[in-house]
Amino acid sequence: MVVGVLLAIASASTAGVTSGLPDAECWQDDFNEDFCCGDRWGLTGNPACWNEEFTYLRCCGIDKLPRRPDDDTKWEASTAGIELEDGGEYDFIVVGAGSAGSAVASRLAAADTVDGQPWRVLILEAGSWSVAEEVADPDRSAQKKESWWPALEVNFSVGREGRTWTYATGRGVGGTASVNSMIYTRGSIFEYEAFGWSVDEVLSAFKNLEAPMEAPGFKPDAHYHRPLPTGGLEDLGSNLPGSHLTLVSAFPEELPPLFRNLIAAFEGIRVPFRVDPHGNATNQGIGGMWRSMGCGHPRCQPTRISRVTAARGRPRSTTYKDLAAPFHGSPAHRLETLTHAFAERISFDGNKAVGVEISVTSDDAPQVVQRRLRIRAKHEVIVAAGVLATPKLLTLSGVAEPKELARLGVPVIASSPSVSRHFHEHVGLSIVAHTNVPCPEGYHLSEDGHTTTHLGNTDQFIGQLYAFLNATDNRPGEPGPVDAEVMLLEGCLEGHLSLTFTIILLQARTRGRLVVQSRHPMASPHLDYKPLSNSDDIQVIANTIRLLYQGVFASEQMAPFELGISPGVEVVADFQKLAQWIRANIYYYSHPTGTARIDRDGAPGVVDSQLRVLGTTNLRVADTSVYPESPSGHSDAPARLVGELCARFVLRDIARAADQVKEHPGGPAVQLRGYRGVRMPLRGFGTNGVQGEKVRQSLTSFFQLGGRMVDTAVLYENHVDIGRVVANSKIPREEVFIVSKIPPTQMGFDETYEAVLRSVKELGTHLDLVLLHWPSNFDKKDPLPACAGVSWRACRAAAWKGLEKAYMEGKVRALGVSNFGVKHLSALLADGPSLPIAVNQIELHPWWPQLALRKYCKEKHIALMAYGSLGSSLLGGATLRSPAVAKVSKRVGRSPAQVLLRWAVQQGVAVIPCNPKYIAHASS
Ligand SMILES: Cc1cc2nc3c(=O)[nH]c(=O)nc-3n(C[C@H](O)[C@H](O)[C@H](O)COP(=O)(O)OP(=O)(O)OC[C@H]3O[C@@H](n4cnc5c(N)ncnc54)[C@H](O)[C@@H]3O)c2cc1C
Repeated sequence: MVVGVLLAIASASTAGVTSGLPDAECWQDDFNEDFCCGDRWGLTGNPACWNEEFTYLRCCGIDKLPRRPDDDTKWEASTAGIELEDGGEYDFIVVGAGSAGSAVASRLAAADTVDGQPWRVLILEAGSWSVAEEVADPDRSAQKKESWWPALEVNFSVGREGRTWTYATGRGVGGTASVNSMIYTRGSIFEYEAFGWSVDEVLSAFKNLEAPMEAPGFKPDAHYHRPLPTGGLEDLGSNLPGSHLTLVSAFPEELPPLFRNLIAAFEGIRVPFRVDPHGNATNQGIGGMWRSMGCGHPRCQPTRISRVTAARGRPRSTTYKDLAAPFHGSPAHRLETLTHAFAERISFDGNKAVGVEISVTSDDAPQVVQRRLRIRAKHEVIVAAGVLATPKLLTLSGVAEPKELARLGVPVIASSPSVSRHFHEHVGLSIVAHTNVPCPEGYHLSEDGHTTTHLGNTDQFIGQLYAFLNATDNRPGEPGPVDAEVMLLEGCLEGHLSLTFTIILLQARTRGRLVVQSRHPMASPHLDYKPLSNSDDIQVIANTIRLLYQGVFASEQMAPFELGISPGVEVVADFQKLAQWIRANIYYYSHPTGTARIDRDGAPGVVDSQLRVLGTTNLRVADTSVYPESPSGHSDAPARLVGELCARFVLRDIARAADQVKEHPGGPAVQLRGYRGVRMPLRGFGTNGVQGEKVRQSLTSFFQLGGRMVDTAVLYENHVDIGRVVANSKIPREEVFIVSKIPPTQMGFDETYEAVLRSVKELGTHLDLVLLHWPSNFDKKDPLPACAGVSWRACRAAAWKGLEKAYMEGKVRALGVSNFGVKHLSALLADGPSLPIAVNQIELHPWWPQLALRKYCKEKHIALMAYGSLGSSLLGGATLRSPAVAKVSKRVGRSPAQVLLRWAVQQGVAVIPCNPKYIAHASS
């Protein structure tokens, strides 16, 4: 009776909101706070009070939700006397070895520090290894009880009274992908733009994830990065890009008439057939699906299988298994995984994340604390614990709504009201259609006499077709955002084939909220979520059902199969009845998102688009909780994407900081990437054409004025003079930075190496930087080096190896090039240098800004050194007389030369004016 009252008023309001409603909307007749809320009803309140629209949190408020202090007491008792021990320091700590966590950790581990060292990365995983051992067999891993999260089961009621689901996610290395149904779908590439990520970035991240990564140090092959096939069968072969994925294709010619006609019926409602769901920008269409299953071979090639091929025996793939596990035992990399390591809280210094406190447990007793460790993170903590555990960990660490933190007695680190809110999910239901087609001979029947899909039955996956379509606003089949999926399974019922059409709502509007109820880190949170509370969600599902009934089931293509469908058309025709049927049959699909969402205009969130937790530093979230809206595929591929992107964001931030100008005794300087501790001052003295007494005097004054970098070359013939000035200067040698260059005539492995040795001997000291002077002979009349008989490219590569040999012997501290264009740089990089190209010295000034080359160098972290900063001789001093320069010079009160030098230096480019007149300028 009372439920009816609430239902009557339910339809008008928006759902899932837990504040801002006037009480009057919650309370009528005998419904009141006393009747509905309060401790005596436990966590959920009086069940008689709630329907889709009205929830405990919404009406009673969070303050009334029981706090469960008994859990706190349990926690305190279980940790009493167990001191926090020091667990050591890592560059990065990743919490959670799931889809996203394993991706981010392995990408970080594969990268180098600016000094060319591997990062130390630690993955903390609360679950065990045993899941990893089982994942090879999709069925067994899914059914193994250890693979689930007993501590995170969440009960919530839906639709009608008394219906409760147990919400579980995967637990152990591999995370939820160790127990999932292995459907791999990117969704539409364009929808990720809304989260602040570019289409190019997303596409390249997906391609990277889908490329083979069998061994540490494996370099993606261009072959796997070619564009994806766009549809034609001829595009498909054994060389599809990607790895550990299997395309379960449904080719019409391989399908029996029932399915061929079904595809044709879908095409009739403008849902086109497609071979590869990743072949287009949008996933709209009907066809097969990629599976996260491999072929079992270590250098697995991506494969296509048809619906008739058995999938059994194709091992499950997870990002842990594919990307992280290969690092085990690799001496060149430092990725460690600690299992049974339950992250209790993130430790902070102010608002800077500095580590993680963990409980060490065991397989036998996952909730019994054996030891507690505090592990320090030098750079960042990345939380990838999944949609339920991530907001809980943030909350218990002090990042949440202050009122919520006060309720729990947790000190505030950062006020973040969106933590735990905006939970949403893909929900759906199934429609069964009986056909007049006899089941094929030997059709596998399940115990109850018909086949239905059940988790882990990989045979079933082969019989599937998937349709992604737009059902919003009765615009079915129109190109536009995909908001519904129809998943098709075949079965056998009473001797005849049956078709199960599972309709999944991809863009649910209903939002829910997680509530942390105690300070016990292992206690389940409460989930306040009523699917379909937002009436738009029912509308989209109803649209999809009607589209199926009217456009597909009633089509002429399906007429020969005499479909018997439940529910009947009378239910579908009447919206009220249909809505009621939807409510009664709704189910969830375990694709939760949103509890630590990305912050956007008008929709405050928890992380920015680079996944940094707002209000803190050195802390990111990388899992599906960051999605403000569900991507229109299933959630595993999007989880992997978040991991891949997170690693890119972290590494980019670090590279940016490293590229920033550093101080040096000789003024501003840049750290040379890949050469530990080598910083190149930006203000230098060029010595082209200056020899003998002239160079000695000029360099001495430059040093006296504070300058420390000197640029020379074999061709300048002044090494001996420079060496003498350096030796006599009394400046500590480590403060002086000497650059020299090897001419093309001395290229070749032995020749270049020996040229460096000669230069070092002439200088009487090591070189700080040595460059290949030109990519080939500048003057055509110059004699050709021995190696030019092969090709200049091969010659440069051999010369580089000669430089590397000199480096290994300590004759020089960093290597680079001069006058190299993009073509030369990319060829040298492609030829596989062992040491990075640290510097390119080029002519550079406002009259020749070399934009494309600079962009390339920036991308490759190659620092620039400019010559001709005041305009090359060809400009004949016109630069210094330029009205534009004169204007700036007047405005800032500096000479035109200073303005031009400053133009480069403030962009992080080193300058080396060689006219002694400008020494003062160069060092000021
Ligand atoms: C039954 C089922 C079937 C599914 N089928 C599909 C499908 O076919 N296709 C698809 O795309 N998606 C599917 N999904 C969803 C998809 O697998 C998940 O959305 C995705 O794997 C989530 O990845 P994640 O990295 O965000 O989190 P997870 O993979 O869940 O990783 C989180 C990890 O963190 C660990 N952890 C949690 N708390 C702590 C802590 N305090 N300390 C240390 N570690 C912690 C967990 O043990 C876990 O390993 C399915 C889900 C389920 C449950």
